[in-house]
Amino acid sequence: MITHSWLHPHLEKGSSDTLGWGIFARADIRKDERLAIFGGKIMLIDEMYEIPAMMQSYTMQIEERFVLGPAGTEPEDTDFFNHSCDPNCGFKGQVFLVAMRDIRAGEEVTFDYCMTVSASVGSDMVFEMDCACGSPHCRKRITEQDWMMPELQLRYKGYFSPYIQDKIEKSGENRFSEMITEEHISPEEREAGLLLL
Ligand SMILES: [Zn+2]
Repeated sequence: MITHSWLHPHLEKGSSDTLGWGIFARADIRKDERLAIFGGKIMLIDEMYEIPAMMQSYTMQIEERFVLGPAGTEPEDTDFFNHSCDPNCGFKGQVFLVAMRDIRAGEEVTFDYCMTVSASVGSDMVFEMDCACGSPHCRKRITEQDWMMPELQLRYKGYFSPYIQDKIEKSGENRFSEMITEEHISPEEREAGLLLL
């Protein structure tokens, strides 16, 4: 199969008792090692409706109104990273995953989906899922608003997808000034996905 992503050679797809498929370390990995670089097809969030339903779960939000979706007709190993509320990896770029701490052989490798997901202006696509990761930090319900939680902003500082890190910093700066709101966007601008918002 042609692949479009890169996966650390010590990582592989495997199954866990609780979560089904996931990505597991088969040798020790040190903090800050590159774990994956995601490739695929860039699409507007609403274009997800145009790909087969089975493939829609293998998309990852990479920008305010954009997702990285599968380039092929079948998922690749890099599509199987699970969410955890106590993750061991995070983002150093929109498509670039690194180890946040040392990872031991046998551990599942996870990130917190709040690092990449936010509500998309102008789209009725909503992200929500239940979580049973078992961590004492478990939020039980994962939503597209979670990146706004101060405790998560602190815990994952520097590991959010850059577009979310940017929103966090802007929301701090703009707390007492007028925020750009959806009403300021023309339908044409919204349609084209041109605005940074
Ligand atoms: Zn959880």
